[in-house]
Parts: sequence; structure tokens; C-alpha cells
Amino acid sequence: MGESREASETAGTVVTTVEDFDRLTADALPNLLDRATTHTRRFLRETGQWADDISHEKLALRWGYEFLERFLVCGRAEVPCRPFLLLDSLIAKYFSQAEPLCYHHGLTSRAVVSRDALMALFYHLYGFGQGQVVKVLGLGAAESQRVYKNFERWRRTGWERAMTEIGITDEDLQEIEDQKHRGKNFDAETERLIRTIQSHYRKSEPQHFPCLSRQQWTDLFDQGYGYDYRAWHLALCRDCLVEVYLLRQDRTDDRPPAIDLQVRPLLKGKVVSFVLKHRGEANGSGRAQRVSAWPP
Ligand SMILES: [Zn+2]
Repeated sequence: MGESREASETAGTVVTTVEDFDRLTADALPNLLDRATTHTRRFLRETGQWADDISHEKLALRWGYEFLERFLVCGRAEVPCRPFLLLDSLIAKYFSQAEPLCYHHGLTSRAVVSRDALMALFYHLYGFGQGQVVKVLGLGAAESQRVYKNFERWRRTGWERAMTEIGITDEDLQEIEDQKHRGKNFDAETERLIRTIQSHYRKSEPQHFPCLSRQQWTDLFDQGYGYDYRAWHLALCRDCLVEVYLLRQDRTDDRPPAIDLQVRPLLKGKVVSFVLKHRGEANGSGRAQRVSAWPP
């Protein structure tokens, strides 16, 4: 009982100086982490993304650390404040982007286990077609063929199955697309979100985790090794992708690849997209661009 009273007193405590903020947060670090982890667990549970197993516990803990880190950095600028409540509001703000968060989290978690989803990430985040993926990754003929198959399978079945697994509905997707068309800050928010998510998932794959220097990337491409590492790391690391993208361009004035979120898979062939475009215009809505409306 004493413990919970102490906790609630701490939660309401106001700090008025940065020194007090540092002192309180240092003392309460385990409590703050526990709070951040609990919030995360609840969010995942409420959005149907939770399972009672060790990997989900680890995920919640990693998010907890991530929130805590961000809180310790930005909280000092908020003094005077109630640190515990400040942490709550920071987390709530983050989770209020529930649909985009679920979408990115779900897609990335698929990419960690499915090659099709991994290759499709380049399209979903940057709008790259197969040819661009092949070029950026510097793939040979055999691997290129595989990329085309990855895209094809993803378009036919993989994407829809992933959306079902994540629990994302058509309305959710529409909402994200609407946000994309409405929101001025949409790309910046998306970038912030995917950076956080990618850093979580990179940690799950230690052999593909480390970022390389420009020189190391150059060597890797020149000497033709590390194909698996290229695909995995570049799909899950925005910074390295920008580096490699610029490295792989023929023209020096090319700009880094912008975030260009595509919530639906790449459709096949120009004829189909042409028809869809006109259909969409005809009924005044982008909703005609539903892949499910089109037999493969
Ligand atoms: Zn990297």
C-alpha cells in the first residue's frame, strides 16, 4: 500500500528546476520505464497486436525504453512540469497516430519474416518500382528475377494477408490516404514514425543491424558481396538508404529519395493503372484504386 501511495505522490509531483527534473527522473527511472512499458502493452492489446509471449514483452519493453529516452531529452525543456504526467502525454500523443502506427508496425513486422514484404517495403515507403529496387540494391540477373516474383506474390496475396493479420481495415487505409492528401506534415510525421519503428526491428536482426560508412557501402557494391545485408538493412534503415541511393545514381544532382507512403501494393502494368486512374476520376474518388476490385 505504501508503495502505491508513494507512486501516486510521485506522479503528481511538480518539478520547478532542471536539476529537480534530473534528480526526480534519475530516482524514478524504474517506475517511469514501467509506466511507459505498461502504456505500450495496453496500446498493443487494444489494437489487437498483443500476444502473451516473450517477444511481445520484449517489444513493449523496447518501446518503453524508446519513450523514456525521448522523454528524458525533451522533458527538461518542459520544466516546470509534472514529469510522470508529461511522460503520459508524450506517449498518448504518439499512440494517437494509431492507424499509421499500426500500419507501419504491422508492415515492418511482416518484412522481418517475409522476403516479399521486405522488398515491398521499398515501394510502400518510397514508391520504388521493381526496377528501382534492383538498381538501388545493385542486384544481378537471378536476384532481380526474384524481386519481380516478390512484388508479384505480394500484390496477389501477401499484402492482403498482411493487412488481415494486422487487423487494418479498408476504412483505416482510406483514412491514412486521406491524411496523406490533407496533411502538410504527413511525410515528416511518417518519417519520424518509421525511423522509430525501423530502429526497433533492426535490433531484432543483429547480423544485419550495423550501419555502414559511405566507404564501406562503396566497397560492398564494388566487390559484389552482402546481398542479403543490402536488402535487409536498406529496407529498414532510412539513413543508409539515402546514402546508398545517392551513391548508386548516375547523376550527381539527384535528390535523396523522399518518403512517399503507398498504403496499397504496386499494381501490375501501365494499362491497369491507366484504367484505374480514369475510373478513379470518373467517380471522383481514389477508392476505385482498390486492388481487391481487380482480379489478378
Ligand atoms: Zn543503416
